[in-house]
Amino acid sequence: MRIIEIREKPVSLSDPMSNAAINFQEMTASAVAIVVDAGHKGTFTGYGFSSVGRYAQSGLIAERFAPRLKALEEVEGADGGLDPVRGWAAMMANEKPGGDGDRAGAVGVLDMALWDVAAKIEGTPLWRILSERYNEDRHHDLVPVYATGGHYYPDGDLEALREEIRGYTDQGYERIKIKCGQGDLADDCSRIEAALSVLDGDGSRLAVDVNCMCSTSGDTQEMADAYSPYGLSWIEEPGHPHDFELLKALTDYYEGAIATGENLFSMSETYNLLIYGGLRGDRDLIQVDPALSYGMVEYANIVKLSEAGEWPRSQMVPHAGHLLAYHAVAGLSLGAHEIAARPDFILGGLQEDVRVADGHATLSQTPGVGFESHPKLWKVLQTL
Ligand code: MG
Repeated sequence: MRIIEIREKPVSLSDPMSNAAINFQEMTASAVAIVVDAGHKGTFTGYGFSSVGRYAQSGLIAERFAPRLKALEEVEGADGGLDPVRGWAAMMANEKPGGDGDRAGAVGVLDMALWDVAAKIEGTPLWRILSERYNEDRHHDLVPVYATGGHYYPDGDLEALREEIRGYTDQGYERIKIKCGQGDLADDCSRIEAALSVLDGDGSRLAVDVNCMCSTSGDTQEMADAYSPYGLSWIEEPGHPHDFELLKALTDYYEGAIATGENLFSMSETYNLLIYGGLRGDRDLIQVDPALSYGMVEYANIVKLSEAGEWPRSQMVPHAGHLLAYHAVAGLSLGAHEIAARPDFILGGLQEDVRVADGHATLSQTPGVGFESHPKLWKVLQTL
């Protein structure tokens, strides 16, 4: 069994939305396809599509990771299927430890395509393979989900925010996450109150993402004081991803849940977060994103590491709302899947055979990751 072709192209994710850290006008992602000759089983094509927020990785893929993968003589595992671990090891040959950065996203999107092929060869959805391999055959029967939205828009106002959230509750979502932190705390509170007005005033149904807006512990305490009365589900990414001292000061000060980790890209970075970040295993959420962190091979080890450190799987809530994260949450029995819920956004929604109701999604039965049954992504991927 061997790889016979790898293609990549950058895709525009340009969108008028923004958060406290970046706008998305120039945002891109890598779309990849890997063609595998599986002998008598046939020829299969697996697809990958980058997570959102870190740009396409065309150069790294073309110069280093695709050639190493393609040079691999054999990708068959001991069970006769495709073993993504063999591909992962080939891609990471001659890469020094540390300095994960964009490299982790380049490997991650290719790893995604390898898992897509592996599941297609077996004729099964990816969540089932992950469940068998990494979760002793356990999986969610219904996948807990929450809707992400509530970004800033050039012509946005509080009524538009309320309207957007109403659209998500109408789609069957119970919990919603919105963006704050672009203005001052008074502006944040008016956004939170607008959102709560659509959520029966129930703070446990609302999470707030401030995208690293706090520079000092004083900033985090002011924020915590302002947000505390709302009883939010969680506050996300209070400060710089590597500022564990700031994070620990906040978890010492604020009783409510904190979520973070979407901008940490490896097992060793996650280890530092768990050891030095002051996170509490009974409430805080770890949002490391498998597609940005060297893919499922590394992410399965991250889940094991977290469990060993007494952060149960329920506290793992991967970032971004891409389809790989959906399979990870379903197959590894993780806490919840984030869904980019705006219907017109390219990464928005789930596979066509999945239904969302009462804050849960059904299991997709589409073989592989299911890109072929996600019309917006498939429109792009089929051009590869
Ligand atoms: Mg976030």
